[in-house]
Amino acid sequence: MLTLTCPVCGVTAEETEFHGGGEAHLKRFGPGASDDDFEDYLFMRENPRGVHFERWRHAYGCGKWFHAARCTTTLQVFGTYAAQTYEPPKEICDKITGERPGWSWRLFK
Ligand SMILES: [Zn+2]
Repeated sequence: MLTLTCPVCGVTAEETEFHGGGEAHLKRFGPGASDDDFEDYLFMRENPRGVHFERWRHAYGCGKWFHAARCTTTLQVFGTYAAQTYEPPKEICDKITGERPGWSWRLFK
């Protein structure tokens, strides 16, 4: 079972206490965006076998949104962090790189 720690209130609980909110760090375009950019924002998602950055909500706790970095195959959680960020914190990326040499994320390619 997936176990997450809410970075807002500090509670560690099983995933049934949380609600998944899809991929994290989606780039939202303004009103002048092209149709292709808007289509990508609405429909195109990463679906990796491995490290993934996701949005989660502490539904049965503080109710706040946060981000989590985890492996989709092993359920290893590399860390959770505030939702008000544009990219994962360096310490989480360093932890992932240390445990998964050669790993890269779309913004770091
Ligand atoms: Zn919480």
